[in-house]
Amino acid sequence: MFLDLHRHLEGSHSPAALAKVARDFDLRAPLFFDEVTQAFRSEAELAAALTMAGPSDDASVFYRCIVLARQAYVSVAAIRALSVAAFQEAAADTDGFELRISLFSMTRTLLENLGLRWREVPPRAFAEQYARPVLLAVLSARDEVAAATKKPMVVRLGLSRTWESGPHYDALGDVVVEHAGQLVGLDVLGIVPPPDTEPMPEGLVRLLARLRPHLPDLTIHAGEFAGHGSIDRVLELEPRGIGHGVHALESPQTLARLVRDGVTLEVCPTSNRLLIPSALAKLKAAHAGLEPLPALQRCHVHCVLGSDDPTPMGTRFSAELSVAEALGADLRTLEADMRRRWLEMTGTAL
Ligand SMILES: [Zn+2]
Repeated sequence: MFLDLHRHLEGSHSPAALAKVARDFDLRAPLFFDEVTQAFRSEAELAAALTMAGPSDDASVFYRCIVLARQAYVSVAAIRALSVAAFQEAAADTDGFELRISLFSMTRTLLENLGLRWREVPPRAFAEQYARPVLLAVLSARDEVAAATKKPMVVRLGLSRTWESGPHYDALGDVVVEHAGQLVGLDVLGIVPPPDTEPMPEGLVRLLARLRPHLPDLTIHAGEFAGHGSIDRVLELEPRGIGHGVHALESPQTLARLVRDGVTLEVCPTSNRLLIPSALAKLKAAHAGLEPLPALQRCHVHCVLGSDDPTPMGTRFSAELSVAEALGADLRTLEADMRRRWLEMTGTAL
C-alpha cells in the first residue's frame, strides 16, 4: 500500500479535467478556445501547453504551467469542478493521498479572473467572501470523492513564502482556524526568484505560530532550490516534514539532525529531475551516482514519496513508484515510513 504524500492541487488539474471545465463553463481564453476554428482545445493541445518540455533550472518554466492552468479558476463552481476531478484522478492513481492547496494564490487568481484587483479588496472581504468559499469548495470535493472511493485522503493548507500582503494572509489565517478540523496540517511553499529562493518572511513565521495550536503538523518546502542551510533554518520551527529536502545530502550535520528529530523528507524524483537538474547532478556525483531517495534512505532519514505536480511534470504517482524502484530505493522502508508518517499526521493507522 502506497500513499502519495506530496501532491499539489494546482499541479493536479489534468488536461482532461481542464478541457471538460472549459466546455462546461464556456472558457474562451486562448489557452482553452481556438478563435480561428471556434473550437475548444483538445486534451492533447492542453497537455502540450501545460506540461514541461524537459528539465530546466529556471523554476519560472514550471511556474508558467501552473499559472496557465489557473486561468480556469473563473468561479467557485469551476474551482469545485476542477477539485472533484483532481481528487478523483488522485484516488484512481494511488491507495490514498494528501493534497495541499495554496489558498491565497487560488483566491488571488479567482479575483483576477473576475476582473478585480485583489489588493483593493479589503483583507476581511478577501478572506470571507472569496477564500472561505474556495476552501469549502475544495473540502466538499474531498468529502464527495472520499465517500465514493473509500480511499484515505486529506487536505493540507499551504502558505506561500511569496507573502504578497501580510494583512490578507492574516485574515485568511482567521478563516483557516475555523476549518482546522477538516485540514491535516500546514505547509510552506512558493516559487521565489533568486537570490534567496526559500525565504521565511517574519510575518509568515508569526502566522505559523498563531495557526500551529490549531494545526500542529507542519511541513516546509526546503532544501529544494536552496542548500542545506535552508533546511537547518526551518528545522528551528519544528516541522514534521520537509518538502524535497534533498540538499540535506550536502551536510552530515543536517542529515544527523533529521534522523535525531524523526523529520520525514517528502521526496519527488521526477520533480527533482525536471526542476533542479544541475543540483541533482551535483548531489549524485557526491554520492557515488546514487539518487537522493536511496542515498537518504541509506543515511536512515525517513522518506516518503510524492508526485508533486503531476500535470506540469507529466507524471503520476504510480509512475513515481516505478521510478523509485528503478533508482534503487528500498520500497519496504518507503512503505513503513509512509505508514509512520500517516499515523503521525492523522492519528490513525492505515
Ligand atoms: Zn511541492
